[in-house]
Amino acid sequence: MQKSAMKAWWDSSHMAGGNAAYIEEIYEAYLENPQDVAPEWREVFDQLPAVEGVEVETKHSDVRDLFKKLAQLGPAGRVSAPAASGGTDAKQVKVLQLINAYRFRGHQHANLDPLGLWKQERVRDLELSHHELSEQDFDSVYSVGSYAIGKETMPLGELFKSLNRTYCGSVGAEYMHITNTEQKRWLQQRLESVESRPAFNRDTKIAILKGLIAADGMEKYLGSKFPGAKRFSLEGGDSLIPMLKGLISHAGANGAKEVVVGMAHRGRLNVLVNVLGKNPSVLFDEFAGKHHDTLGSGDVKYHAGYSSDFATPGGDVHLALAFNPSHLEIVNPVVIGSVRARLDRRHSNDGGAVLPITIHGDSAIAGQGVVQETFNMSQTRGFSVGGTVRIVINNQVGFTTSKREDTRSTQYCTDIAKMVQAPIFHVNADDPEAVLFVTQLALEYRNTFKRDVMIDLVCYRRHGHNEADEPNATQPLMYQKVKKHPVPRELYAQQLLAEKVIEQHEVDKLVSDYRAALDHGACVVDEWRPMTEHSVDWSPYIGQEWTVPYDASLSVEKLQELGKKVCQFPEGFKLQSRVAKLYQERLNMINGEKKLDWGCAEILAYASVVEAGSRIRFTGQDSGRGTFFHRHAVLHNQKDAATYMPLQHISENQGPIEIYDSVLSEEAVMAFEYGYATAEPGALTIWEAQFGDFANGAQVVIDQFLSSGEQKWGRLCGLTLLLPHGYEGQGPEHSSARLERFLQLCADHNMQVCVPSTPAQVYAMLRRQVVRPMRRPLIVMSPKSLLRHPQAVSSLEELSSGVFHNVLAEVDELDAAKVDRVVMCSGKVYYDLLDARRKNELNNVAIIRIEQLYPFPHDDIQQVLADYQHVKEWVWCQEEPQNQGAWYCMQHNFWASIPESGKLTYAGRPASASPAVGYIAEHNRQQKTLVEDALNFKEGTE
Ligand code: AMP
Repeated sequence: MQKSAMKAWWDSSHMAGGNAAYIEEIYEAYLENPQDVAPEWREVFDQLPAVEGVEVETKHSDVRDLFKKLAQLGPAGRVSAPAASGGTDAKQVKVLQLINAYRFRGHQHANLDPLGLWKQERVRDLELSHHELSEQDFDSVYSVGSYAIGKETMPLGELFKSLNRTYCGSVGAEYMHITNTEQKRWLQQRLESVESRPAFNRDTKIAILKGLIAADGMEKYLGSKFPGAKRFSLEGGDSLIPMLKGLISHAGANGAKEVVVGMAHRGRLNVLVNVLGKNPSVLFDEFAGKHHDTLGSGDVKYHAGYSSDFATPGGDVHLALAFNPSHLEIVNPVVIGSVRARLDRRHSNDGGAVLPITIHGDSAIAGQGVVQETFNMSQTRGFSVGGTVRIVINNQVGFTTSKREDTRSTQYCTDIAKMVQAPIFHVNADDPEAVLFVTQLALEYRNTFKRDVMIDLVCYRRHGHNEADEPNATQPLMYQKVKKHPVPRELYAQQLLAEKVIEQHEVDKLVSDYRAALDHGACVVDEWRPMTEHSVDWSPYIGQEWTVPYDASLSVEKLQELGKKVCQFPEGFKLQSRVAKLYQERLNMINGEKKLDWGCAEILAYASVVEAGSRIRFTGQDSGRGTFFHRHAVLHNQKDAATYMPLQHISENQGPIEIYDSVLSEEAVMAFEYGYATAEPGALTIWEAQFGDFANGAQVVIDQFLSSGEQKWGRLCGLTLLLPHGYEGQGPEHSSARLERFLQLCADHNMQVCVPSTPAQVYAMLRRQVVRPMRRPLIVMSPKSLLRHPQAVSSLEELSSGVFHNVLAEVDELDAAKVDRVVMCSGKVYYDLLDARRKNELNNVAIIRIEQLYPFPHDDIQQVLADYQHVKEWVWCQEEPQNQGAWYCMQHNFWASIPESGKLTYAGRPASASPAVGYIAEHNRQQKTLVEDALNFKEGTE
């Protein structure tokens, strides 16, 4: 259009004159904040080209000029150009609104449910009449604005059809909640240019068909060979198989070197055999109850993980399917943590080298809070992985519950993804080409924008929750429909036959070949390759016990050298005054002027680990500073809020160290760190609770992964949990890290539970966790008041040996022969006992500390107790109530440690429902009593 014509149009347009002021007002609001205007207007304004010299602050008076300027821009302006024939300006705007309506709400009329049971709400915005348009206008040609079909104008009839094909076919695209215009345009371009249906070539179509044949063939085979056995069939969601293969292939072609998949039980066996290439004969043996490996307890087959390589156009990609428990969504942060470790190892900061795929169920993704936690983590510094491709196997029923009013409060099960503005592609699983299209699009979006993306694979479940279940009892109508519904491979084969892509005999051959391959028991995945590329070697850690010898010693000089480095920060970097004082004291400690406190020893442990080249990853809600102001590993410049981590400046060849204050989550963050630690044996990976009992927000991670992952799945994990614990009168929620819960989970040497009581001990314990070639979880009851306790100090010499003492002997020079009472304890109460004993000169009572409660150090304790074999009175003293702490779980070990003639008694708080009392006076009374009970004296009576 000529500039003059545009100008004439503008002058006569409804946008000029009386309406102009109104539009200007809206436009002004839009310039201030696009979110403040109605989506329809935002869409129109989004299409306006940027005008040089117009800033966001443009005020009302300038807007009129702006519109004039736009009018002069000609067709490049693209907004509401006059109809090329037969239309009016008003209609043109309506046409743009219609396009907009389809972009926003087309998904609500999309053909998504293979069973056709969804009752879709009537969306008037998608009707012509709502926009004062009608079929009478079908021949009129309008500008299509930014509609990315590759034409500037279209007859309305053609446009209307195109909009329906793009937005209301087998793909329901939800993306208009994204505020970033570039991302929106990018998605529009890809959806609209091919009307959500690209032309796939014959090879791709055959590959899709083969995938569907494999998915169906596998389930039928298992169903006939092992009738009634639980397999959590994929049937109904068969297109997941060609989808995953297509996704992995596309990822490999785009540079991915590894793909880590997390999924629950539904369809898992199918994925194992048809995507990861697990040998079917191994699976059949598992069905037959044969036991292949030598893992401890083992696990059911539909929880098993698997690893293999997969050939793609970009080279072989390593695949790992994570082991998972039945707690559906919890595996997702584990997978994402594992991906972060792999990315770190590959120095891939943008997520390019490793792709996480998480596969969800429709009820679980809407129902379980850990999903929200992982979305919230997805763009944070410490936890981002460049986006996750999330797939929902939406079979529209969770076990027996399918009524939407029972399962969720949102229209779609995927609405949670909108919290991070992820695009959501709903897709009809009976249209496998549409599925492949959105899958590729999702991956490209993830790779381009490094953000999460969601695919809602709308399918059905052919059987009950498992194959022995009767779904008609609870879903009668759905299952009447399912019974008559052809399987996906039949539907797609018919499509390809109609398209003359394949002949019937070829389809039959593909089906029989697949069945023959299963009969043969060999791998059925053409792309399967044996694992080759392995950057991590777990073999040094396999089969190692906690008693394996190691040397963690460092000379005092070396410690001082490291200590000086961790006290350095750039010139001009202004520390907060209390931090400056603490750093000065730390330097004094390093220089040998005073003994080391907890923070200093802990920092030295980290410095020594990274100096030796190992990686440290440390997260928790206040990890940088430390909840109790003792660590200060991350410094904050008081002048400009810049941060500095001295531990990152130890030496040129040091290992990397990352310390992140985490999002406020326990469950997903601990699961993430578990995933990280199971993928990175060389690192010291630490999660710290703000207060120890908050870890119970992550109880699933502790029960299902940490305490039993090695025994169930053979997956080692050296994650350390630092759980502040101690009775200082802070009440029920800030005293106990629930030691008893961890001890109750202990068996088979599955994890270590330690209660270090000196700086030298925490130093040695942390070093041991990396230097010793054993990878098992370390649960630490870490201190609060001991961080600053004047007696909880250690010398550099004590640190130098690097030995963690599982048991600490009596420290005072008592005459062992005169000792007639021995108190055993762990943690902070030791200092209360010591103090009272010294004050009251109770030299007949020896106090020993058990610093590792599990695995129980029988040999060490025998050595320490050797001089007290004559003693009859033995006491276990704890601060916790009697039904908590170590007493009940560890009593048998205490009894086993004392001489046969000895008698063991308990000194501690009385049994209590609450972990601690809330009243400080009562706390003090209890604390005094338990110390007196342990030492067998009453203050003032001795
Ligand atoms: P992945 O990279 O997770 O597929 O692991 C590849 C292989 O490394 C596995 O098949 C195991 O043999 C081994 N592996 C991976 N993670 C662990 C672990 N946490 N503990 C022991 N072995 C592991």
